Amino acid sequence: MDIEKLKQLAFNEIDKHRDDIIQIANSIEMEPEEGFKEFKTAKKIAAIFEKLDYPYEEGLAITGVKATLKGRKDGPCIGILGEEDALFNSEHPKADKNTGIVHACGHFAQVAWLAGIAYGLKHVIEHLDGKVVLFAVPAEELINLGFRQSLRDQGKLSYFGGKQELIKLGAFDDIDMAFLQHAQSTIPGRTAFTTSGSNGFVSKYIRFIGESAHAGVAPWKGVNALNAFHVALSAIHAQRETFKDDDAVRIHMLLVKGGESVNVIPSEIELELFVRASSFSAIKEVSDKIDQALKAGAMGIGCSIEIRNSPGYLPMNYDKKLTEYWEKSASKILGEENIHRLGFFGGSTDFGDVMHLMPAIEVQIGGYTGGVHSKEFRLQDEEMGLITPVKVAAATIIDLLSNDAEVAKDVLKDFKPLLTKEKYLEFLDSFFYTSYDDYGSKEKK
Ligand SMILES: [Zn+2]
Repeated sequence: MDIEKLKQLAFNEIDKHRDDIIQIANSIEMEPEEGFKEFKTAKKIAAIFEKLDYPYEEGLAITGVKATLKGRKDGPCIGILGEEDALFNSEHPKADKNTGIVHACGHFAQVAWLAGIAYGLKHVIEHLDGKVVLFAVPAEELINLGFRQSLRDQGKLSYFGGKQELIKLGAFDDIDMAFLQHAQSTIPGRTAFTTSGSNGFVSKYIRFIGESAHAGVAPWKGVNALNAFHVALSAIHAQRETFKDDDAVRIHMLLVKGGESVNVIPSEIELELFVRASSFSAIKEVSDKIDQALKAGAMGIGCSIEIRNSPGYLPMNYDKKLTEYWEKSASKILGEENIHRLGFFGGSTDFGDVMHLMPAIEVQIGGYTGGVHSKEFRLQDEEMGLITPVKVAAATIIDLLSNDAEVAKDVLKDFKPLLTKEKYLEFLDSFFYTSYDDYGSKEKK
């Protein structure tokens, strides 16, 4: 069957299941789940794979679900990823009332698109020359570090990002290239864009440990850990003028424990902190400065300080050929004038890690409004936000795997990975280290 006929067959099937796709999108959006806890979301997508009689594995990196669709003959394997997790923003009107968790990054749509692609390829896959993996993946947002650390301490995972863990488990070993479409609201309407790269980062979980005392009766008996944090924060801000423009450095933090009673000198302060930058040499350089600034706070007040470092995500490294082929496939649906290439992206994703191992791209696709992660983010247009991306993905797969998979083979032909899987895992492991310094606190570790 020729390519255009195959696409029509897929599009008809997608249109036929329009209501199913919207229904799963709504259902996931209404039951948002934190990373590595996406049990309901995983069940919902697994039920679609089950219904369509696709072989699938579940429980990968706790909540990942991976369906494999085999074509008429062996050939390259294309992975399409859908992120399952939500994040905390209790100001969002759709946030879960108890937990504050909400789909303010549009990941609900990614899983619904996977369902749509599963429907769309049902009668198409037998005409393709390779394999397709539909992969619902956990925990893209690196949040709630304490929880992730507890999973690591219990031996339930090794890394804090879902894709990192899946790489370690070998769940990407049979995938030759991958793409991920992400909801975007930057350019409104029927548009899509890629970027020129992104920041990577490392994360830190920090404890300042002082001494509690009655804040009114005998504050001189205490060692105020909150004051140590305050001094450290000033030192961090003072370092900002040393950051180079080209490194796109971002330092941001969250105070997760700030004391217990206003009338008690806070003896223990805990915070999460990210050091982001566009290259790992810059991340390393700035990370060392931040450690110095944090320790200066502890030293100034006479606290102890524990800094638990862990790997964040690698900067994105778009595959040029796959980008061009995706643009070609998508422009037939969206119109060439609606496909853009934007500059650098200040955020980060664990898909950047995947991009170091195989040809991969992340595409931002419209139909949404309000800034991602903000309380205003929402789906604006069901057709553009939920149905069209499915057609774009299905068309891309058909273009890659038709005619003896000549396009996919062309993508793979000259690809050289930046890291082998072994080197990558070694690299991640090198970021796990804890420092402990005692600058006079009465509490000893
Ligand atoms: Zn996202």
